[in-house]
Amino acid sequence: MSHGLTRREREVTDRNEIVRILDTAKFLHLGMVDGDEPYVVPMNYGYTLENDQLTFYLHGAMRGRKLDVLRRNPKICFTLECDVVPFEGDVACRYGMTYSSIMGVGTAVIVEDVAEKQQALSLLMKAQTGGDFEFSERMVSVVSVIRLEVSSFTAKHRPLPTK
Ligand SMILES: Cc1cc2nc3c(=O)[nH]c(=O)nc-3n(C[C@H](O)[C@H](O)[C@H](O)COP(=O)(O)OP(=O)(O)OC[C@H]3O[C@@H](n4cnc5c(N)ncnc54)[C@H](O)[C@@H]3O)c2cc1C
Repeated sequence: MSHGLTRREREVTDRNEIVRILDTAKFLHLGMVDGDEPYVVPMNYGYTLENDQLTFYLHGAMRGRKLDVLRRNPKICFTLECDVVPFEGDVACRYGMTYSSIMGVGTAVIVEDVAEKQQALSLLMKAQTGGDFEFSERMVSVVSVIRLEVSSFTAKHRPLPTK
């Protein structure tokens, strides 16, 4: 079943705004399916957005639960957010938080190709720092790199309420 946003007026479709959210959030929550239980980990990312194809690159240790889970089931979901600022209201239900967020689903691929791992880590450092970094074969040989191929995503913005 396909679910659209219930608050359509809050949907973000402008590409520049989507890129701003991706550049600002810096980390995502990666959701996985570990047998019959969900498993979520926060992870820093790099990304590419080509036409409408969003791809994330993650890096980490060479072993751990996340890699074990993804080898068994590569289906993933993710959320990320920025612009998170609490605001007050005159009654309890008017308190809240501003936010800009993106969430979606896709497939994880554990990257083995050395050149792709080098490019992924450069993209990750670009997204994290704005700087250009290069990685030797030796440097990429001691980390794992995961590519998230996003099959669909939505973006949403909740502004400060007007008085
Ligand atoms: C803001 C942020 C950014 C991060 N960025 C990265 C990143 O870019 N790369 C990276 O590899 N890791 C990152 N981490 C750490 C990441 O969330 C995981 O802890 C790590 O990737 C290990 O995952 P794993 O499944 O291999 O854990 P394992 O070490 O195999 O986990 C074993 C158990 O430890 C517990 N555990 C694992 N992670 C966490 C956690 N974060 N908090 C509390 N309990 C936990 C769980 O109970 C899990 O079942 C980040 C964490 C934060 C908060």
